[in-house]
Formats: sequence, structure tokens, C-alpha cells
Amino acid sequence: MQKDNFKSPDFYELDKLLTTEQILVRNSVRDWVKENVSPIIENYFLIGKFPKKLIKGLSEIGAFGAILPQKWGGSELDFVSYGLMMQELERGDSSIRVLSSIQTSLVMNSIYKYGSEKQKKKYLIPLSKGESIGSFGMTEPNHGSDPKSMNTRFEEKEDFFLINGSKMWIGHAPICDVAIVWAKGKEDKLAGFIVDRNTKGFSTQEIKNKLSYRSSLTGELVFHNAKVPKENLLHVCESFKDLYECLNLARYAVSWGALGISMECYFVALNYSKERKQFGKSISSYQLIQKKLSDMLTEITKAQIFVWRLGKLMDENRASYAQISMAKLTNIKMACAVARNSRSILGGMGITNEYPVMRHLMNLETLVSYLGTEEIHTLILGREITGNSALI
Ligand SMILES: Cc1cc2nc3c(=O)[nH]c(=O)nc-3n(C[C@H](O)[C@H](O)[C@H](O)COP(=O)(O)OP(=O)(O)OC[C@H]3O[C@@H](n4cnc5c(N)ncnc54)[C@H](O)[C@@H]3O)c2cc1C
Repeated sequence: MQKDNFKSPDFYELDKLLTTEQILVRNSVRDWVKENVSPIIENYFLIGKFPKKLIKGLSEIGAFGAILPQKWGGSELDFVSYGLMMQELERGDSSIRVLSSIQTSLVMNSIYKYGSEKQKKKYLIPLSKGESIGSFGMTEPNHGSDPKSMNTRFEEKEDFFLINGSKMWIGHAPICDVAIVWAKGKEDKLAGFIVDRNTKGFSTQEIKNKLSYRSSLTGELVFHNAKVPKENLLHVCESFKDLYECLNLARYAVSWGALGISMECYFVALNYSKERKQFGKSISSYQLIQKKLSDMLTEITKAQIFVWRLGKLMDENRASYAQISMAKLTNIKMACAVARNSRSILGGMGITNEYPVMRHLMNLETLVSYLGTEEIHTLILGREITGNSALI
């Protein structure tokens, strides 16, 4: 594994659009990744192990709850800063970005937006310190793209809710201390619950042998007459729209994360092409390699402008579902294309773990499917453009 001396491309001088604080956030997360993630991650990925020891460091750089008020353990970052943080963490590895992103966008944000004061007091600070790890349970074995058809049910009893069903493909399920769980009740009304690890009738299982997200833990949440106290209901949340609000924040994070992956793949390919000689000359001097590099840089530059603008819209609370879908869709497609070009420039070396490119390519396959597949985001855009939903 080479020493990590990553520098991000800035062809359109986009750094000039960033505030001093935003640059500080980006650079400090980048330094943290160089020091803590890059030296170990190839090995963790290879052996399929979760780098638990990084949880503390992530909490120290403010990666859990970054956009939330300080009162609740956050750092009150603006959305561009948050995006830059996601970019840098995912450049390190998807498992690191997702650790921060599930905790912030899906778990802490659900409790912050839809929880009671008592729930916020109990859960948010331990989550922000990484003393408690959260999961977000929406997807089920038989319902992924279509969560509205979910089978997990809750029944209201006198002193508690009874939950039955299961959730599949859930990030950090095997180690979660607390899970945000979505279930349907009478007349298919949706509700969200905070489920503690020690809840009777609740258990988790790990999904093993993944070939993508190898250093991230994924699993199932299983509910057999799980007794959840009444006080654990997310009171303010009522409909799928509320659930999708949380998903949108995670989709925003992943569109910046994909940019981080693409920047790393470009940086690696550019350096390799300058050093590698074939036919007596550096391969960077050949026109076909230059075409690949110029395509990569062009796509990265477009993506940088895209997410910067989306971040500003998020700060103004004006980003629509469809705008976020467009960014998730297009940045991941872009990152896949850039990573494949990078892999090909590296020739045979591109499939080894001497370089991070193959690891990122494998992780990207998860990014293509999760938080809404390419097809689902295309249909969300189609609905926005035409006014006709193909998703019914
Ligand atoms: C590593 C990993 C981590 C994850 N983490 C979480 C998590 O923390 N929490 C959580 O709740 N979920 C999580 N997920 C689940 C993820 O969000 C789902 O995998 C995703 O929504 C797709 O659902 P599915 O896998 O059931 O695929 P399906 O919905 O079965 O889709 C299969 C294929 O059919 C296509 N398709 C479906 N409907 C249509 C349509 N109407 N028109 C055209 N094509 C269609 C899809 O686009 C896809 O190509 C995770 C998944 C992975 C792989």
C-alpha cells in the first residue's frame, strides 16, 4: 500500500467558493483519514473486518451529528461543510462514511426531528460520542425499492407496542445499541420506533461474505413479539414523507461521498500514468490515456459544482427530493465511470490492493443500489418532469 499523499483536483477553482470554515473542516477530516484510515483500510477490507477502533476518532472529529445543534452533540455545520466531510470520509472508505452517515443522517436526525425532548436527552449525546451505535431499519427481505409495502407491523397494547417482522440489509445491525425501526399499524399507518438492543423479542444477525462494503457491518433486525415501551415511539413522525426526509439527507451525503471516491481514483490514475513507462515513454504521454484523464477530470469538476450548489440549496432549505435524487443518481454513475477508467489506466496493478481503486469499485456497487437504486431515482426524476408517477 502506497503512502497516502492525496490532493484533490480543483480545476475550476471551486475552493474559492468555500468559506474558511468549510476548508478547515475538509482539511482536518482529510488529515484524519490520511493518518487513521488509509494505513489500515486495505487490510480490513481484505479480511472483511469492521474497523471498530475508528469510532472514537470519528466522534472526536465531530462526524456523529455534525449538522445538529451543539446542545444535542452536533457541531452545527452548514450543509456544504457536511458534504465535504462525507467526501473526505468516503475517499478513505465507504465503511467510514457510512458509519458517520447512518449515525447522523438516519439515526440522530430521526430522533432530533421526530423525537420527544426526553428521547433527545436520552439518546443524542451518547450517539454523538460514539458510545452508542445506531441502525436504521427500513428495508425488508421482500420489500426494498417499495418500502410502502413493508410487512413489519406494530400493535398498540396498554403499556407497550408489540412489533413483529424483520429488516434486511441494515448497516451496523450486528453491533447496534439502538435501532430506528419503521413499521405499519392499524390502517397501514406508518410509525417509527426507537428500539433498544436489550428489548425482549429483538435480535440481530450478520450478513456475511459480502464482496462490497467488506469493512462495513450489515445485517438483519428481527422482531418476534418485541415489546417496545410506549415512550419509544417517535411522536412527531406520521407518514412515509417523514421517513423519506431522513433518507434524503443520507442520499445527499452519499452524493458527496461518491465525489470523494472519484477524486481519489483520478489522483491515483494520474500519478500512476506519469510513472509507468511502456514503449519507452510514460503512458501519460499517450493520447488515449490523456483522453481518459481529461474525461475523468471533466466529470469530477461537473460533479463538484453540482453538489456545491445542492449544498447551498440545502442550507436555504430549498432542495427538493428530485434535486437530491438527481445528485445521488448522477454522482454515483460518474464515480463508477471514473473508477473504471482509473482501474484500466493501472492495468493489471489496478486489480490488486496495492492501490485503492478496486476496493472503491466494489464499494460503488453498493452505492448504485442502496438509498434508492438507479432505476428508482430515475423514476423520481421522471415523476418530477412529467407529473406522472411510474412508481405506483
Ligand atoms: C450494503 C448495504 C447496506 C444497506 N444499508 C441499509 C440500511 O442501513 N437501512 C436500510 O433500511 N436499508 C439498507 N440497505 C438496503 C437498500 O436500501 C436496498 O438494497 C435498496 O433499496 C434496493 O432494494 P432491494 O435490494 O430489495 O432491491 P429490489 O427493490 O428488489 O430491486 C431489484 C432491482 O429491481 C429494480 N426495480 C425495482 N422496482 C422497480 C421499478 N418500479 N421499475 C424499474 N426497476 C425496478 C431495482 O432498481 C433493482 O435494479 C442496504 C443495502 C446494502 C446492499
